Amino acid sequence: MPHCSLPPASVAIIGGGPAGLMAAEVLLEAGVAVTLYDSRPSLGRKFLMAGKSGLNLTHAEPLDSFLTRYGEAQVHLQAMICDFPPEALRAWALGLGIPTFTGSSGRVFPEGMKAAPLLRAWLHRLRELGLDIRVRHRWIGWTPDGALRFETPVGESTAKPSACLLALGGGSWARLGSDGAWLPWLADKGVGVAPLKPANCGFDVTWSALFAERFAGHPVKTVEIACPDNRGGRQCKRGDLMITRSGLEGGLVYALSAPLRDTLLATGQATLYIDLMPGRDVSKIRDELEKPRNGKSLSAILRNRLGLPDVKSALLREVLTPETLASPAQLAAAIKQLPLRLTATRPMDEAISTAGGVRFDSLNDQLMLNALPGVFCAGEMLDWEAPTGGYLLTACFASGRRAARGTLRFLSTNPESVNSST
Ligand SMILES: Cc1cc2nc3c(=O)[nH]c(=O)nc-3n(C[C@H](O)[C@H](O)[C@H](O)COP(=O)(O)OP(=O)(O)OC[C@H]3O[C@@H](n4cnc5c(N)ncnc54)[C@H](O)[C@@H]3O)c2cc1C
Repeated sequence: MPHCSLPPASVAIIGGGPAGLMAAEVLLEAGVAVTLYDSRPSLGRKFLMAGKSGLNLTHAEPLDSFLTRYGEAQVHLQAMICDFPPEALRAWALGLGIPTFTGSSGRVFPEGMKAAPLLRAWLHRLRELGLDIRVRHRWIGWTPDGALRFETPVGESTAKPSACLLALGGGSWARLGSDGAWLPWLADKGVGVAPLKPANCGFDVTWSALFAERFAGHPVKTVEIACPDNRGGRQCKRGDLMITRSGLEGGLVYALSAPLRDTLLATGQATLYIDLMPGRDVSKIRDELEKPRNGKSLSAILRNRLGLPDVKSALLREVLTPETLASPAQLAAAIKQLPLRLTATRPMDEAISTAGGVRFDSLNDQLMLNALPGVFCAGEMLDWEAPTGGYLLTACFASGRRAARGTLRFLSTNPESVNSST
């Protein structure tokens, strides 16, 4: 009998961030040849940037509440995160020689609070497994006969692998590689995509020149912020805000950035309500303000009787009319619920992450595109969003694994794709 040997399967992964690298690991461990392409001169640039703020890998809260952080996308992400939950992610990091710890907020970080050692160890392991890395290869779509097209420093090249896994990231911090340019290319192929929008982003506020000059860079500590959500309810978070020259930044405002952004997009404006003295009763604040001032200025009263720091009383003066400032009852109410008008989100490129991307109804449950059999997607380029707290990276890792498993299944059930790639 003549022996007919099939060529080995080869998979192209495009995008060397956490999702693409995790997919590569699963495929290589299954014995599949993987070539990983990235447009930048090195891999994992956004992952390394995340490491500059400590690399919040995941979160230690109970899995049930962890999963709710993905909002409407929970239904799509739940199964893949349950396959690779926070505990498994921590064990995986430990396997690379990177122990993790849980901070007081429940956030989980590598002990060294850095991404570089983890990425170094990971890339070492992937190379040992045989990963073929092609940097400075920018994917620009397909040729008419379905080959992948790349721009490289020495001209255009093409590749026709057995299957392809896209892990191109979202659309923020474009200089780190993920520029969202792929969105129209996939849309042209009949893939359903939602426009990219900033997520975990800051907002513009029209400060007076005086306020911006004096308070840009100042934190506003221990406030409670609130805004209406899109289900007729109200979202509320406690923490610290950061005043910037153009508005507000920081983890607290990021936490409410989805409903604020959606209101801005729908109506052109949004109001953030700030409780400058959470935990203090409005009637007690009013009582203090009603006491005779004995010639003291309002700032002195706010500082000495209520303990309000300068930045908080300046915020009150920035927002309120002289009449409201002069009325103890109205001022007390405003201290508990100061309405701050936001005029815009900060540009998408400044956001920590982006919402929008490849819609889940364009994918099967293995993350393969319905319109393009043999093409899989993973990571932030999928249409989900989550707050900061390690939820972003967890879903990127988990979706990378899911898409890689889907690719393995595709290769085993479509042997003709392996032949056609040669
Ligand atoms: C400042 C900052 C801090 C963050 N901190 C945290 C944190 O602490 N915890 C957390 O959970 N998340 C954090 N994030 C978010 C997290 O880093 C991202 O969600 C995550 O990196 C997305 O992973 P990904 O693999 O989907 O995409 P990316 O990491 O964006 O990787 C995509 C890759 O695709 C490549 N690529 C894109 N287009 C092409 C193309 N056409 N051709 C070839 N290659 C291409 C890019 O060069 C890039 O290497 C942070 C983000 C930022 C900006």
